[in-house]
Amino acid sequence: MNKLYQIFTLLMLTAACSQAQEAKPKTFTRADTLRGSITPERAWWDVQRYDITVKPDYIAKTTSGQNIITYKVLNTQHVPAMQIDLQEPLNIDSILLDKKVALKYSRDGNAWHVQVPQQQSKGSEHVVTVYFSGKPHESTRPPWSGGWSFNQDSLKRPWMTVTCQGLGASIWYPCKDHQSDEPDRGASLSMIVPDTLVAVGNGRLQSQVKNADGTATYKWSVSNPINNYDIIPYIGKYVHFGETYAGEKGKLDLNYWVLDYNLPKAKTYMPHEVHQMLKAFEHWFGAYPFYEDGYKLVDVPHTGMEHQSAVAYGNWYKPGYRLRDGSGTGWGLKWDFIIVHESGHEWFGNNITSKDLADMWIHESFTNYSETLYVDYIFGKDAANAYNEGTRKGIHNDSPIIPAYGVNDQGSGDMYPKGGNMLHAIRHSIGNDELFRGIMRGLNKTFYHQTVTAKQIEDYISAKAGFDYSKVFKQYLQTTQLPALELRFNTNRTKVSYRWTNCISGFNLPLNLTNGSQPALKIYPGTTWKTIALKAGNEMLFDTAAITKMYYITAAIVK
Ligand SMILES: [Zn+2]
Repeated sequence: MNKLYQIFTLLMLTAACSQAQEAKPKTFTRADTLRGSITPERAWWDVQRYDITVKPDYIAKTTSGQNIITYKVLNTQHVPAMQIDLQEPLNIDSILLDKKVALKYSRDGNAWHVQVPQQQSKGSEHVVTVYFSGKPHESTRPPWSGGWSFNQDSLKRPWMTVTCQGLGASIWYPCKDHQSDEPDRGASLSMIVPDTLVAVGNGRLQSQVKNADGTATYKWSVSNPINNYDIIPYIGKYVHFGETYAGEKGKLDLNYWVLDYNLPKAKTYMPHEVHQMLKAFEHWFGAYPFYEDGYKLVDVPHTGMEHQSAVAYGNWYKPGYRLRDGSGTGWGLKWDFIIVHESGHEWFGNNITSKDLADMWIHESFTNYSETLYVDYIFGKDAANAYNEGTRKGIHNDSPIIPAYGVNDQGSGDMYPKGGNMLHAIRHSIGNDELFRGIMRGLNKTFYHQTVTAKQIEDYISAKAGFDYSKVFKQYLQTTQLPALELRFNTNRTKVSYRWTNCISGFNLPLNLTNGSQPALKIYPGTTWKTIALKAGNEMLFDTAAITKMYYITAAIVK
């Protein structure tokens, strides 16, 4: 199996919401830097809002439209050009400043340098309207690859959407394509479609207008900050039903946009699954982060994606991940993987977003772990431990979870099950589920609607847990070594010694050992031997099978 296929298979088994890592060489190009770093042409301005219009032509597979980008000037000193991203083969046709002045621009691959006036003062707001058209890149394997999908439903009627995580939203509309800069005041998406079709977008429907030429314009909008890759058109034979959920922050609108022929099964299937998910996740993570924009599921031809307040759903109205269970335990077949996993991203990925794609583990490790926490909430701890352990068969330990920064690189698919297992280990290490839950809720409150670095997340967890977990994060995120716990008993079993091997210098994961009947015992192994006296009942806590169920490590009794 080649690497791409391995990763693809792994992702197919463990998660469904981002594109697989393309097998690109690890030598990075100028284009990677332009795409993945805060260039001088990006640093001086801050996106406030996107107002996007798109008109797709289903037959010709072309699109045209514009993005009105409202931005704030952060720095007037030496304002260079403005970098706008739009990927080939789409083309920018013209650019207007403040809706009147035509700007000159030049192309540097997928980045465009726009000549803006130097006299824009710090703190002032302006708009650039970027008109685009062309034959956009099509996705060959959504959601794993990015681009437009000009698909059809089972009755052979048009069904269109986009997937673009990783590859970037600039594959279909012009924007500042970097995760660190979200439009602070939200975004709107207007779609001009044949009036026989219905267009659905993120957030709330603002207007629906029939045009004289047989088209209709649907305008949707979110009021909250949103990731570029989460802004998505859905166009097809959709119908709608909705309800209200009494949630932690009050009334939450739940909306379901499904193909007309799916309506009966959607009505009996979706609300229950969504209520269970919301109960579990508001318990663990706090209030759903986008009450203002509502919660929504939208039928798609692919498996699913976490598009904010418009989660893409393609799981056949069946449990598991299209009837498969990545954990192999059976626990994954008792709930809808796509509804749980993709909605989990509303907290980790959409509410809290990594600044750099290299920290995609903040999205996928926490969301993978949200599956375990869901199982814990609905089915209990034993089920959750079994599910979490079962997902380990998807771990390859082939390359680190965190790749290079600043070049839009994406790490190993291990960010899903291994990252989830790392968080499970930290949770057991803390040994206090209420404290752990407080940390999960605290993360979502402290970094509410923010983009973050890995260090911010790691430091927060360490501070609240009262232990410096930085070496633990480094071990699991930046190496492929699986830490090994060595245990050694003296001959009359009155003492036990322990140490970590196969790990980085200073690895120090504390182990809270518990078996439900004995009082818990917390030990602090290091990379040199430590010895403690065993009290009555303590020896039973050193059962290596029980330890490795809680902690993603190996454990062995050595002479
Ligand atoms: Zn995911």
